[in-house]
Amino acid sequence: MYDLIIIGAGPGGYVCAIRAAQLGMKVAVVEMRKTLGGTCLNIGCIPSKALLYASEMFEEAGHGMAPLGVVVEAPKLDLASMMKHKDDTVAANVNGVAFLFKKNKIDWVTGEGRIAAPGKVVVKGGDGNEKTLEAKAIVIATGSEVAQLPGVEIDEKTVVSSTGALSLPKVPKTLIVVGAGVIGLELGSVWRRLGAEVTVVEFLDRILPGMDGEVAKQFHRMLEKQGFVFHLGHKVAKVEKSGGGVRATVEPTAGGEGKTIEADVVLAAIGRRPYTENLGLEALGVAIERGMVVVNSRFATNVAGVYAIGDVIRGPMLAHKAEDEGVAVAETLAGQAGHVNYGAIPSVVYTSPEIACVGKTEDDLKAEGVAYRVGRFPFSANGRARAMRHTDGFVKILADAATDRVLGAHIVGFGAGELIAEAAVLMEFGGSAEDLARTCDAHPTMSEAVKEAALAVDKRAIHV
Ligand SMILES: Cc1cc2nc3c(=O)[nH]c(=O)nc-3n(C[C@H](O)[C@H](O)[C@H](O)COP(=O)(O)OP(=O)(O)OC[C@H]3O[C@@H](n4cnc5c(N)ncnc54)[C@H](O)[C@@H]3O)c2cc1C
Repeated sequence: MYDLIIIGAGPGGYVCAIRAAQLGMKVAVVEMRKTLGGTCLNIGCIPSKALLYASEMFEEAGHGMAPLGVVVEAPKLDLASMMKHKDDTVAANVNGVAFLFKKNKIDWVTGEGRIAAPGKVVVKGGDGNEKTLEAKAIVIATGSEVAQLPGVEIDEKTVVSSTGALSLPKVPKTLIVVGAGVIGLELGSVWRRLGAEVTVVEFLDRILPGMDGEVAKQFHRMLEKQGFVFHLGHKVAKVEKSGGGVRATVEPTAGGEGKTIEADVVLAAIGRRPYTENLGLEALGVAIERGMVVVNSRFATNVAGVYAIGDVIRGPMLAHKAEDEGVAVAETLAGQAGHVNYGAIPSVVYTSPEIACVGKTEDDLKAEGVAYRVGRFPFSANGRARAMRHTDGFVKILADAATDRVLGAHIVGFGAGELIAEAAVLMEFGGSAEDLARTCDAHPTMSEAVKEAALAVDKRAIHV
């Protein structure tokens, strides 16, 4: 009898397992994939970041270094080695989780898990044999899967999902990306840097839905400068195979004449949906709404002893959100006050430049009728950014007009994903723009732009 069985070994599940083991619980994790780490480590965050970094280096070597006095003669792409770097990175990470499981005495059970009854998980192994495990509590951490484009079949060769786009055997001359969200723009960036002409088709009239409108607008312009072609307010009505590639019929969402675009590869990146197949949830009576497992503030479903975390429940589909929920549910089960502050979960787009945000957007604040003040600071006025020739972008801090409490931070710029942490810590402690403005940042660093944007909330930035 286990204290806890977790179904799914993604960042939600494996982190929950480690925290529960630290708290003295006897834990098993059921995972149907051969390796641990879930979508994130195997086919998501980690491999995409390995390719984003390597392709950024390729592009820098090709175009970015001469003004620094570093002359590189026409760099050559060795795609096989780049893919090996990605695969090695994935292997190091998934093996790292296996080591942590051993260290924390967590039982790793391979197979597909189904909840037969509260406290009972049936695991079907690769050989078809089933075994039943028992536990006091069960956590569903089964994550998400690629959302399919209606009427378009993904073959992972010419019509690919993010998974296929992480392993293309050669650089496509032309790539259509369907969906201008994070995954589409990140993987579109990888292949554009390696030589593909990238056309992005997006249903909405903007990129990065959900992110701050001003940030999205500026970033849209930057991507166009990099060579991305956008068809915003358009949908892909049809994708047909043609020769060795594909022909996509693209129509304006407002109606009117469509057009066809030919490409070597189409990447369908319209989003992800919670994965709850074959879990037995319907028979068990677990409430599901819009595909998501319904949980309360303590991650409990409506069935006693069954909890859920990560992509399979509401909230942003982000690895660190799943991890924090994993910790919270383990601590709750141990009688502690597990808690996740959804108001301070950062979100990063790992393009160049990077985009990072935490908290409310200006659009959110307007919709909620909250009076706020804005402070902005451009990286073009930051010494370190100039020294590194990374002057594109800006920092924007949104603070409550009455209390000065920071409600949101938005950064477009080199290293934005690291810089956002300062704002996230501040927000976690309910800090004000004044607190941020009075924090001493080392000079010269990009983080000085965060401080200056906080000063700008009170119209007293020094360097603009
Ligand atoms: C290309 C790409 C890039 C991404 N980049 C980022 C990023 O940079 N940052 C970020 O925060 N997020 C990123 N994400 C999102 C991130 O991967 C997810 O938010 C995260 O993995 C969710 O974690 P999870 O634990 O909820 O589920 P998952 O990681 O999806 O893990 C669920 C696991 O459950 C297993 N499972 C499912 N059903 C069963 C069953 N019945 N029995 C046994 N096992 C089962 C699955 O095999 C899977 O391994 C990216 C996603 C993709 C696709």
